[in-house]
Amino acid sequence: MRIALYGYGKMGRAIEEVATARGHQVVLRVDRDNAGAPPTGADVAIEFTRPDQAVDNIRVCIAHGVPVVVGTTGWYDQLGLVRDLVAHHQGALLWASNFSIGVNLFFRLNRQLARLMERQPHYAVRIDEVHHVHKRDAPSGTAITLARDIDLAVQRYAGWDLEGQEAVNADPQGPPAIPVRAERTDEVPGTHTVTWASPDDRIVITHEAFSRRGFATGAVHAAEWLLGRTGVHTMDDVLSDL
Ligand code: NAD
Repeated sequence: MRIALYGYGKMGRAIEEVATARGHQVVLRVDRDNAGAPPTGADVAIEFTRPDQAVDNIRVCIAHGVPVVVGTTGWYDQLGLVRDLVAHHQGALLWASNFSIGVNLFFRLNRQLARLMERQPHYAVRIDEVHHVHKRDAPSGTAITLARDIDLAVQRYAGWDLEGQEAVNADPQGPPAIPVRAERTDEVPGTHTVTWASPDDRIVITHEAFSRRGFATGAVHAAEWLLGRTGVHTMDDVLSDL
């Protein structure tokens, strides 16, 4: 596979290492100094840049008929626009707030636990995430996915609320929002914890990434999977085939 990397930062470099080890070739590296370059000569693009740059990069890849795997988080309010763009060009895009296989298993576990908790109203939920100090968005896209999945499964919650900020999608008269706490510490690659506590006990599930390699491996698997497909997909579709 010939790969165009959009974003040659911490993730771009980790992806290059994994992709090369799997026999792929990085034919283009797009970073700030050549931003907006088309994915000429690439079979697939992998995008890990910044929330405010992702949609422009998606646009250039889709317009050039190159499937794109998007790892950048924090742009999901524009997902509707991106779906229209992909449909219009009959393109291919795969996005995930977290590409690690472990986190995607964790998402499934979270959904299953939430479904059980729908019938146990004495348990209250909270989400905690910890990341390195360079991360721009808070809460993480992964924490938002966890919160949305709980919100969908459990009627006594509506939306989520980042500690110290306004509630999202929450009606002040309606059910409470899911509390989310975001901590920024040192070089932590990413830790997410979902806690369900009752007056008598507590169930805690945690995913802790040890490095960026798990995200990079998942992104390369996703690119291999996306080749030859059309439409908008997520990592859950890849996981179902693994
Ligand atoms: P980083 O800051 O190390 O790298 C981002 C790179 O993008 C930088 O080198 C920057 O110069 C470059 N860039 C900025 N504007 C650009 C543009 N217009 N075109 C091309 N390149 C541009 O950040 P990172 O740790 O590599 O993370 C990048 C993104 O990926 C963030 O949004 C982060 O939250 C996300 N992320 C997602 C996952 C996942 O599994 N989905 C995992 C880790 C990080």
